[in-house]
Amino acid sequence: MMRQARFKLNFKPHDCQLQPAVPGEGMAQITFGGPRGPVVLIKRKILHDECVTMTEARAIETMIAHLQGLFPKTCPNCGRRFVSLRDFILNTTPIGKPIAHDLEMGELNPLHPIGAVAVSNCPCGTSLALTSEGMPLFRFWGLLLWAKRETQRRGQTPQELLQYVRGEIRKQVLAESEEL
Ligand SMILES: [Zn+2]
Repeated sequence: MMRQARFKLNFKPHDCQLQPAVPGEGMAQITFGGPRGPVVLIKRKILHDECVTMTEARAIETMIAHLQGLFPKTCPNCGRRFVSLRDFILNTTPIGKPIAHDLEMGELNPLHPIGAVAVSNCPCGTSLALTSEGMPLFRFWGLLLWAKRETQRRGQTPQELLQYVRGEIRKQVLAESEEL
């Protein structure tokens, strides 16, 4: 049975708390202190796991699910159509390191995320970007929180962590597809 819990997310600049810290599904709300008391900005059902107990496996699974939703994707220059994330990984070349702008700025709960981006080159040489755009806010926050914790635990910069994550995503997507 799913344990029901009620979470209160008190949002202030650079501060966000999810309480109580118990597993299960619950309600999250972001409140701002208004002149007549707190104003509820966002209220949404969330999985506690998404925000607080994110693991590396879960984080990568979440990112892969989001990325798979970005396909099919067509190169605006040569018109090549990438039918799936696997097709994209097999036929493009990663360029530079992925960047999570919000993470770089220490913004773990951005209301309007700038987002994360990874760039790869199409065989024709055109740069194609995969981004976090469209990911639900709380899910994105959960990933940011996980990434922040992991950079501290591993002693890595955000870009080093994202580069590692990119490698893991590529490995997993290619491995999973081969099993089919
Ligand atoms: Zn192209």
